[in-house]
Amino acid sequence: MMAKCFFKLFIALIICATIECLPTSEYEDPRAMIKANTPENLEKLKTLGPNDLAEELSGQYQGDIVMSPEEVAEYENSRNTKTGLIATRYSWAGGIVPYRIVESDFTLDQVSYIHRGARRMEEVTCLRFVPYDPKVHNDFITVTGSGSGCFSSVGRRGTGEQILNLQPNNLEVGCFRLHTIIHEFMHAVGFYHMQSAAERDEWVEIVWDKIQAGTEGNFAKQSETVVSNYGVDYDYGSVMHYPSVSFSIDGSPTIIPLKDLNGETMGQRVRMSEKDILRLNSAYCSDVVSTEVPIVNPGSSHTAYFT
Ligand SMILES: [Zn+2]
Repeated sequence: MMAKCFFKLFIALIICATIECLPTSEYEDPRAMIKANTPENLEKLKTLGPNDLAEELSGQYQGDIVMSPEEVAEYENSRNTKTGLIATRYSWAGGIVPYRIVESDFTLDQVSYIHRGARRMEEVTCLRFVPYDPKVHNDFITVTGSGSGCFSSVGRRGTGEQILNLQPNNLEVGCFRLHTIIHEFMHAVGFYHMQSAAERDEWVEIVWDKIQAGTEGNFAKQSETVVSNYGVDYDYGSVMHYPSVSFSIDGSPTIIPLKDLNGETMGQRVRMSEKDILRLNSAYCSDVVSTEVPIVNPGSSHTAYFT
């Protein structure tokens, strides 16, 4: 009788572990993964210039990516990387992304700007950012403003709540640039930084001796078996690209383009590029047929979506 009981318990544990219903790490609490920001960054965040990116100054991995040390080790344990997640376990089923905003952290204008970022992504993809309903959704994004800088996990963590932080600021400053909000939402739906791409060394030179000591991880790459560019070329103009002087010791370039920029600006935060939109649609929308979803045609002008 006892042996039968143990056998049942054993089977139950196997099933439980298989469907990931057991706590898998000390990072089940999404707030426990967020690192404290450095005093230098805290100071810089107070006096951001018009071209400064708050996401570089947020004290997380690569500036604004919330990852456990185990995930960082996995990320760096390969020579190659692309920029979007392959594993469906990290994607949002059906492109439905439940989110809620801690409204007491923000002004009404800031709350509506966060929604505007989500709406802008909906305009050009099949993604749908919906209000979190605990009766319907298991996993969801909580947008907070209480943390330092801006940051997000990459993809759906699958552990219930996950944090996306946007430190309050005037609209179009710091974390409240519309396309910094979109940058963080793009992390949350599964995209890494463009300069980490597998093929980046064909497109940019990383000037290692100009990078601030201790920030080299910002230029690390990830396993090509884990991520995909969805068949879209390297993109200097991506909203996920960092500027050429990122993490520089003296303001000189740390990322030098090796090919013609074709009018693109590395590190821009004024629009989703055509390739950003293509990658999002390739990741989430290639099997979606809906007349309500704008058709993204690489041969046509997308200007209307960017304004
Ligand atoms: Zn980022």
